[in-house]
Amino acid sequence: MAADTQKEVQAMLYQELILALRDRAGDSDSERWRVVRPVMDKGRCTDCGACIEFCPMATIFADGAVIRIRYEGCIGCGICAVNCRIHAITMEPSPDWHN
Ligand code: SF4
Ligand code: SF4
Repeated sequence: MAADTQKEVQAMLYQELILALRDRAGDSDSERWRVVRPVMDKGRCTDCGACIEFCPMATIFADGAVIRIRYEGCIGCGICAVNCRIHAITMEPSPDWHN
């Protein structure tokens, strides 16, 4: 399987898993039970935009030439961190989902 296809399948499986867990928990507000969140190191990030295509929740976006993460809607799956080739995203504890 080509690497890109493999990553797309991985992202789809993650999304299905998250949706199933969310249904089971009876909570449609996924941010409420997010335990980790992605944090970009903008000193390392090259704004290549690669992470945008892998985010299953479409919460990474281009703000002009700068790539940013919107935490509302982010489920903390970590797919963006896994797919950043230069490791500019780390998953950090997210006790307060509003931040
Ligand atoms: S993939 Fe990594 S380097 Fe590229 S925009 Fe995302 S965080 Fe930045
Ligand atoms: S952790 Fe990354 S890939 Fe997952 S929903 Fe949040 S921004 Fe998107």
